[in-house]
Parts: sequence; C-alpha cells; structure tokens
Amino acid sequence: MRVGSRLVVGPHAGRRRPPWSRRARRPAVFVDRDGTLNREVHYLADVAGLRLLPGVAAAIRDLEAAGFAVVVVTNQSGVARGRMTLETVDAIHGELVRRLAARGATLAGVYLCPHHPDAGTPPFRRRCRCRKPAAGLVRRAARQLGLDLARSYCVGDGAVDLGLAASVGARGVLVLTGHGRATRRALDASLPVAHVAANFRAAAKWIIDDAYESARRRRR
Ligand SMILES: [Mg+2]
Ligand SMILES: [Zn+2]
Repeated sequence: MRVGSRLVVGPHAGRRRPPWSRRARRPAVFVDRDGTLNREVHYLADVAGLRLLPGVAAAIRDLEAAGFAVVVVTNQSGVARGRMTLETVDAIHGELVRRLAARGATLAGVYLCPHHPDAGTPPFRRRCRCRKPAAGLVRRAARQLGLDLARSYCVGDGAVDLGLAASVGARGVLVLTGHGRATRRALDASLPVAHVAANFRAAAKWIIDDAYESARRRRR
C-alpha cells in the first residue's frame, strides 16, 4: 500500500505507528561501528579513512521510523594502545554523525570504550566494565536515553557484539561485512545468534519485521 508517496510493504503495512512506540521506554538497536557501519580498516585513526558502507543511512532512517533509538557502541582500544588520541576518535564520531545527518539519519548516541586491560598505560590501561562484551556502555545508554533492553537488538561483525547481546538480554544479529564471515566460521553454541544478515541494511529490515512479530506475540 501507499502512505504519502512512499511504498510500504511487509507485515506492518498500513499501520500508522509501530505498536511499541506508545510505551515510555524505547527499544534500541545497538550498532557496532567498524565493519558494520563503516569499512573495517585496522585501527581507523583519521577522519579521512572513514568510509560508510552502502545502505547504512537508509537503514538507520528505517529503524528510527519504526521507533528504535539507534546507538553506536564501539571498542576503541587503539586509544589505550597509543595508536590514536581520544580527540581523534571524537573527530571521527563527529564526522560519522555529520555524514549520517546529511542523509537524514540520526544517531541517538555514540558510546565508546577507549580501554584495554593489558595494553598501554593508565588511565586507559584498565580492567573496565565498558569494553564489549561487557554491558557497561549499553547500561549507561539505557539509563541516559530511557531504553528497554528486553526489546532491543545488538548488531555487529564480531563475536563481542553477540556476546554483548547475551550480556544485556538483547537479541544478537551478526552482519557478514567487516570480519563477519570469519566470525561466523568461528561461532560456537555459547553465543546465541538471532539472525545472520548480509549487511546492516538487511539486518535493519529483519529487526523491524522481528519486532512487529514479537509485539504481536506479546499481545496475544
Ligand atoms: Mg566491528
Ligand atoms: Zn572501557
């Protein structure tokens, strides 16, 4: 069917608002950065190296329209390792936000862990609670942004992203961009994967359909 000038298809066609948007706390999609939103390069350390993957802005727009907060959650141990400064990471995130905004896509937040348990020197060398798969960044985002973790998803190309989903009680989606294929080969039963998607765009489509299905099941 047609809503305005936009063709809407799928199980949610014709509904004005997503069924979960009436609740106080929003569900979120916690997205990994490197290899999921942008091309994986070994320790991205300058703005010029930032390359968004195809379809990423459209995927974020679709998730927002479906009522999700889209939150970037990223380990940047390159800071602890001395490969880049926190200022550089901030500049990269500023550029990421700006480029997405230029395409109409808004991030609800960008949360990063600059630590490593063994590399570098304090304060960045430490055993923190925010390095994925630990739950720290997601818990902080949930507090600050008012998010409902039980209805949320974690998307990424690494085992830590699936481990993060398990840590916080969200559903894990593996994308096959970045290190995704190697991650899939190495997966074992200890990491539950709700879905494997070719890329973030496909992951977003699956998440939106899965959320509608889950909401329908809960109402029964
Ligand atoms: Mg990654
Ligand atoms: Zn940390």
